Amino acid sequence: MSATPKPFEADVGRVLDIVVNSLYRHREVFLRELISNASDACDRLRYLSLSEPELLGEDPEFRIEILLDRGKRLITVRDNGIGMNREELERNLGTIARSGTARFVAELTGERTRDLELIGRFGVGFYAAFMVADRVVVVSRRAGEERGWVWASDGRSGYLVEEAETVPPRGTAVTLHLKADADEFLNPLRIEEVIRRYCDHIAFPIFLEVEPAAGESRTSLQQRRQINRASAIWTRPPQEISDEAYVEFYRHVAHSFDRPYARLHLRMEGQLAWSALLFIPERRPFDLFDPHRRHGVRLYVRRVFVTDGLEGLLPRWLRFVVGVVDSEDLPLNVSRETLQHDAVVAKIRRTLIRRILDELARLAQREGGEGERPSWSDWWCEFGPVLKEGLLEEGEWRERILALARFRTTRDEGWTDLDSYLSRMVKGQKAIYVLTGEDAASLRHHPQLEAARARGIEVLLLDDAVDPFWLERVESYKGHRFVSLAKGEVDFAGIGEAPREEAEPALAAGELAKLTARLKSALGEEVADVRPSRRLADSPACLVVPEYAPDPALERLLRRHGPVSPPPRRILEYNPRHPLLVAMAGMIGDARRSLEFDELARLLLDQARVVEGEPLPDPGAFARRLGRFLARAVDRAAPTAGDAPQADAAGAASPEGGR
Ligand code: ADP
Ligand code: MG
Repeated sequence: MSATPKPFEADVGRVLDIVVNSLYRHREVFLRELISNASDACDRLRYLSLSEPELLGEDPEFRIEILLDRGKRLITVRDNGIGMNREELERNLGTIARSGTARFVAELTGERTRDLELIGRFGVGFYAAFMVADRVVVVSRRAGEERGWVWASDGRSGYLVEEAETVPPRGTAVTLHLKADADEFLNPLRIEEVIRRYCDHIAFPIFLEVEPAAGESRTSLQQRRQINRASAIWTRPPQEISDEAYVEFYRHVAHSFDRPYARLHLRMEGQLAWSALLFIPERRPFDLFDPHRRHGVRLYVRRVFVTDGLEGLLPRWLRFVVGVVDSEDLPLNVSRETLQHDAVVAKIRRTLIRRILDELARLAQREGGEGERPSWSDWWCEFGPVLKEGLLEEGEWRERILALARFRTTRDEGWTDLDSYLSRMVKGQKAIYVLTGEDAASLRHHPQLEAARARGIEVLLLDDAVDPFWLERVESYKGHRFVSLAKGEVDFAGIGEAPREEAEPALAAGELAKLTARLKSALGEEVADVRPSRRLADSPACLVVPEYAPDPALERLLRRHGPVSPPPRRILEYNPRHPLLVAMAGMIGDARRSLEFDELARLLLDQARVVEGEPLPDPGAFARRLGRFLARAVDRAAPTAGDAPQADAAGAASPEGGR
């Protein structure tokens, strides 16, 4: 070819650089990738031909052929599937079209050994061909189109696309010019072994045909023959399917290289007949939270691929599930839109959800993890936030999802589930206490937990973005209400062991009322209300919201993503036993200390905002105020300070007030 090649998209270049130079051990996977693509291409055309039978022309039998030319050192993988036109060749083979490869790119470090390991984990699809070939030529003709196209590349300088001189048959032929060190793939036995290992699940026949080198005579091994059994794996009895075949099928449908965490092979008979082979992955795909991501379950009707990602088939909160559902009852010739609302699909969906939750419950039982398999908590870390989205839906699945859920807790550093939580509830406890926020580690030190902790009451620390959303809708678990410590009035009377100091109030009722009123007048519009708190033990104050207001963590989240608006006014709760508040109560009525009281009230409010992660309306003023009081406290503490004159017109704070 004479024209200058087009450069690859930058990311493709990076992938190829690693692939071409790799000494990757499992180079034979190139064949799996090319056959997987060929199989997808046949699936897609078979579906299109249901409404446009003329696309099949004279050639209705789908097949994949592997041609081995020993003399010219060529391997060709050919299919009579959908094919690609010029634009599709450029887009699919010149840019990173596939999610698995995009994830690979996202994780590339530039460090050779680690990056090679990544190929093992993610795979690189079509580009795997360059592990064994120094030149790849793709000839393709889209079904129903007149012209054919040639795409060619050495995997380094870029690629060329030109019109094919003679019109090729429908479909795609990928020809690899084998590298000098890839002789093993000229051996038909080796090819056969690889196909048996990786492609046994492919539902189309795979033929191998060998062209002997000059001087070689054709042996029986070199007769054209079919290598796989070409029956869809999900139609076979499970006891006849090896683990490896399952794993390879998972990799084919998931476009992923890892191993599944669990699989579900169902064959339903009776009123509706359908089968399903589903997998639950072990690791979170990089686009799990992409709003456009759909679940990875392909719908087949009587072995014919119909569509993938059909929303009616699985809810969004199971979007990590991949696999195949094959129905005997659905009509073949209906649109995606019709299927979306089909009653048969809805029935299958219900059963699928139930069986998937059953399987997850089984996995959750064996907490410890089996062998290499991650433990349930580890799996929950990866996928729990998605599963919890299911709590937002009304209905029967809620309780089951809650039973699977794992939470951080004040009890220890690990995870807990709700049933264990219930079993540890203290005397008199009815509710499940929770606190929401951005991360469990900092929630542990939150003032709102203090009184609960002092009474030995365990609190769940909910730090997923989705937590405040479901808490708004889910009232209870097994009859126990969820109570957020950030909301409403908390009263632990009669629950757990009351700490001794709670019995003896530091301030009389009248003093409390005065202190509350005085704080209100000092803070004015900045707070919605002021009241003494029953949830604090060591901290002087905290901010809470009324019981029926949105959860503060939710409100903060919405504020961050919405138009700029000031935080709503909160209720300031103060600790009536804290020395600072006791001292402040003592300042009331002393006109000379009124200014100082106001300053302290502001400090109290601002430090409560800091703890909440709320922005301070005037951080400079906060810092100056704090500085003044600290200076005075240090001055007091200094042994030589004596009766140092007070510079501040507000007068001296009592010794306790400086604490
Ligand atoms: P993936 O198969 O995960 O999408 P690949 O890198 O293997 O990624 O292939 C990229 C894209 O190229 C495919 O999604 C498909 O659109 C196209 N493609 C590759 N091989 C073929 C083929 N034999 N027939 C038709 N299209 C193909
Ligand atoms: Mg592929």
